[in-house]
Amino acid sequence: DVTATKGLEFDDFVISRELMKGIHSAGFERPSPIQEETIPVALANRDILARAKNGTGKTAAFLIPTLEKVEPKSSKCQALILVPTRELALQTSQVCKTLGQYLGINVMVTTGGSSVKDDILRLHDPVQILVGTPGRIADLARQQVLDLKDCTTVVMDEADKLLSPEFTPTIEELLAFVAKERQIMLFSATFPVVVKSFKDKHMRNPHEINLMDELTLRGITQYYCYVDEKQKVHCLNTLFSKLQINQSIIFCNSTNRVELLAKKITELGYSCYYSHAKMLQSARNRVFHDFRQGECRNLVCSDLLTRGIDIQAVNVVINFDFPKNAETYLHRIGRSGRYGHLGIAINLINWDDRFNLYRIEQELNTEIEAIPSAIDKKLY
Ligand code: ADP
Ligand code: MG
Repeated sequence: DVTATKGLEFDDFVISRELMKGIHSAGFERPSPIQEETIPVALANRDILARAKNGTGKTAAFLIPTLEKVEPKSSKCQALILVPTRELALQTSQVCKTLGQYLGINVMVTTGGSSVKDDILRLHDPVQILVGTPGRIADLARQQVLDLKDCTTVVMDEADKLLSPEFTPTIEELLAFVAKERQIMLFSATFPVVVKSFKDKHMRNPHEINLMDELTLRGITQYYCYVDEKQKVHCLNTLFSKLQINQSIIFCNSTNRVELLAKKITELGYSCYYSHAKMLQSARNRVFHDFRQGECRNLVCSDLLTRGIDIQAVNVVINFDFPKNAETYLHRIGRSGRYGHLGIAINLINWDDRFNLYRIEQELNTEIEAIPSAIDKKLY
């Protein structure tokens, strides 16, 4: 149970009253295990490498100490929260604003796909915490409209993704802009080897926390369903009619297939949004915002929304296309079953996917069962 803890209270941490008020506004009563483990260590300024299951409260685990450490009287940017996707940047900045609402500080979110000019204007006001994707932040630092000399906290959420070749050069560049004396905190559910080389190069005796165990996918019942490519839409239609979907996310492996499938689902008479990387950012934001508000039951998307996205109403995840590796699988299906809620994941498998399915089951040490004719509502 994610809420089973050592019995610490937020009051046991050395945090200000104003921050406590923010924590209560977010609806949090007691810290989750990852929060209990990380908050005191982070407050003591140690570097942190934290690994914990999806949906267990990593965001607040790094935001609470970061917010506590920020000095509202200084107008300098003191903390960078780096995330790999634009949607995640928005979501994280919202949590940060909620938690920090009584602190009298400014939190700004910036990502690619939005106007640089607007960012520059917004940076005329004091901004103490900057949340965003690495590319845009590096851009602003390079143009010298963003001064990071006093930035002493760097958080990397979904850190392994941020340390993939796609981002590494930008991350290295950003680290050269921030203060020499800084605290670096890495969070993710998955930590492949890339993280080790970063740790050895940039981190100082980090405190390592690993709350992953064989229960990683607890709360999520996983099924597969053999189906020919041509029958997939039909199969999905059947699932829609049988399942009690609160909200669902349906993953495809290409942007093309996302659009095609969304169209098919709409034709079948189900409400459906879609989102993928080739869409305009404004459209992506609107879809994400409206889906989150519950305006629509189903969302078809590419791996753009695989990581970090937290929508508790999602109780069903469907892999319309089966992912290629265990890591993607884990992050995709982790979109349901958040913070102790239950969820189901259904994988449509064609003949070619069968080895992959087997490999992923082995790698994650989990069980993906054949779909039964009736699914117990209590499981999700
Ligand atoms: P992770 O990053 O580990 O996948 P999130 O930080 O997105 O998880 O949190 C998952 C959900 O849990 C969010 O909806 C968040 O509001 C909720 N949550 C986090 N911490 C607490 C807490 N201490 N008490 C209650 N709910 C919490
Ligand atoms: Mg997260």
